[in-house]
Amino acid sequence: MADSTKPIKGRFSTDCAHAGDETVPSRNQPAVMPIYQTSVYDFPDLDVVDNVWEGKQAGYIYGRYGLPNTTALEQIVAKLEKGEAALASASGMASIMVAFATLLQSGDEVVVAQDSYGGTVSLAAKELPRFGIASRLVTDTRPQAIQTALGPKTKALIVETISNPLWNVVDIPALVEVCRGKGVKLLVDNTSATPYLIRPLTMGVDVVIHSATKFLGGHHDVTAGILVGSTEFISRARDIAIRLGPSLAAFDAWLAVRGIKTLALRMERACANAAAVARSLQAHRNVRHVFYPGLDSHPQHELVRRTMNGNGGAMLSFDMKGDIKTAESFVKKLAMIRFAPSFGGLTTTISHPAKTSHRSLSPSQRAEVGITDTLMRLSLGIEDVEDIVRDLDNALN
Ligand code: PLP
Repeated sequence: MADSTKPIKGRFSTDCAHAGDETVPSRNQPAVMPIYQTSVYDFPDLDVVDNVWEGKQAGYIYGRYGLPNTTALEQIVAKLEKGEAALASASGMASIMVAFATLLQSGDEVVVAQDSYGGTVSLAAKELPRFGIASRLVTDTRPQAIQTALGPKTKALIVETISNPLWNVVDIPALVEVCRGKGVKLLVDNTSATPYLIRPLTMGVDVVIHSATKFLGGHHDVTAGILVGSTEFISRARDIAIRLGPSLAAFDAWLAVRGIKTLALRMERACANAAAVARSLQAHRNVRHVFYPGLDSHPQHELVRRTMNGNGGAMLSFDMKGDIKTAESFVKKLAMIRFAPSFGGLTTTISHPAKTSHRSLSPSQRAEVGITDTLMRLSLGIEDVEDIVRDLDNALN
């Protein structure tokens, strides 16, 4: 087979076609993992083909099967979440679909916390039933309510550690006990808390899910997802993902890894900023209510103390006095904080749940869960907190 260490001696067209194919000799390694921008690996002989394909020898085959950059992302997230293994995908939704496809089959049921990300709810409620998988939405995620919601056909429960925009916090250790008792797999979406605040696998959760588009990536420049769990679960999920095809591109995996390098620093600053901004908003005359798990007034503050060291995270919501017009003029008056319907970037962004993440709910459904036209969701960044408070104050005044 072709030896890439030997120069190719061809005619003009052959030389053009083989541009860059010759190995560039180096006796030392790059300090940062390069972007392996290739869709396929070549093999020196058929023995290596056999060995790599059967996992007896380290190596790569084809982009959809994984590349060094996706492995690097998987290894670091597995390490941070204290899981055995991880699987990267092209988005958080792709990861959730792969998890469902790994654990569920026709005739099964999945129970979904209704305050989960809208995409998770609609995937379960609108798409899974077409494959014979039933879904049940639950509004109450307290252990007692979940105990009754899990039926004989329930195979999986999916909840978020901290759900948005009202920041309901689940009692993970108690849910682990309930699910174990019923033989149900517990999937926890840890996107908004991140392993900086809580590591659900150490508490007995079966699978952790991330939209790495948010805090893991951390710069609003990458869309990615990741599953973390046992070696057995990830190996089965990997087989399914290879068949379904939601592979993550090398560059996006590289960006996510680069983002993770500063996760601890970003979270430390963003959480401190969130706590300070929550206190400042609480004292503002034009603010009706602040929703932040780090405040003593939060209904699950005891749980936050017990499972997340009292750290309420990097996001909060607040309800302003007024109506939709007040919300509109508030957003327009912000000078630094951008309106962006995502979260987890390193600059502070604001969103309006009624108009974005929860727009598919009817006004009465929104009212039922407490999402008013004047509710704003803030994702805190790493700026100087005085600048964030000043921008909010100016717009609120
Ligand atoms: N999980 C949560 C908590 C989310 O907020 C989102 C998206 O906003 C997702 C999953 C889906 O992730 P992605 O947009 O990367 O597909």
